[in-house]
Amino acid sequence: MLNHKMDRFLKRKSNEVNGKERKSRKVVMRKYDSDYIKYGFIKAGNDFEPKAQCVECAKILSNASLKPSKLKRHLDTHHPKSATKPKDYFERKRDDLQSQQRVLTSFTTQSQSALKASFLVAGRVARCKKAFTIAEELILPSAIDMCREVIGGNAASKLELVPLSNNTITRRIIEMSNDIECQLLERIKSSPYYSIQLDESTDLTNIALLLVFVRYCADGNVHDDILFCKELPTRTTADEVIRCLDTHFANKAIDWKNCVGVCTDGAASMTGIHRGVVKQIQQRAGQAK
Ligand SMILES: [Zn+2]
Repeated sequence: MLNHKMDRFLKRKSNEVNGKERKSRKVVMRKYDSDYIKYGFIKAGNDFEPKAQCVECAKILSNASLKPSKLKRHLDTHHPKSATKPKDYFERKRDDLQSQQRVLTSFTTQSQSALKASFLVAGRVARCKKAFTIAEELILPSAIDMCREVIGGNAASKLELVPLSNNTITRRIIEMSNDIECQLLERIKSSPYYSIQLDESTDLTNIALLLVFVRYCADGNVHDDILFCKELPTRTTADEVIRCLDTHFANKAIDWKNCVGVCTDGAASMTGIHRGVVKQIQQRAGQAK
């Protein structure tokens, strides 16, 4: 039965491939001729499928249009004033267009590396727990000073492109932390089991916090991570803790079924026999000890 299915599959595949070959044999790829510059066209596309680009309007024509009659028609209809210009006029235009394209390419690479630099600095600011304004007020000006003195003015002026404003740093840090959370959730979900540890704490302003740590398997090892930290109403009750956990687990689509362990700091609201958090978790996760 299986062999039969496999045969049919292979037959279908080979038909598809042959069909494609037949099709591609029909299509004739036209080649770019360096003489086409006299119609105002330079080579674009790649070697497999050459195309023509107009030096006047930068429009790219398809491979099928790579023949003198079509190129000339574009020139006559769209740029009638240039129709009678000599070949060297188009060659000058070609050089202009190509240098513009070079500037554009180098600008894209530069802005990409500026973006990456911006993320790297934001990561450092977050790790050092500094105010987000430090990037704009201290890091960037210092980096520019150092570059100007050590490497040169050119390098220093490139650094001015790195976006490091207060708002940018905020955005980058949020983006990175969301990404880290996504990665953690993916790992927890692909782990066969996980266990959690709950801890209550208060911060400087006396706000009650629920800290949840998670232990899970990934890459053949056991890992510990902080799952989340959320504010609780001042009078912490077991119901509040459970509500907080339930909301978070539902939002992040974490399955209680795979939870095999729960441990707490031993506070009354956590372990109390009636309606205690642990008991309620055990109702949700049958395997939890
Ligand atoms: Zn054109």
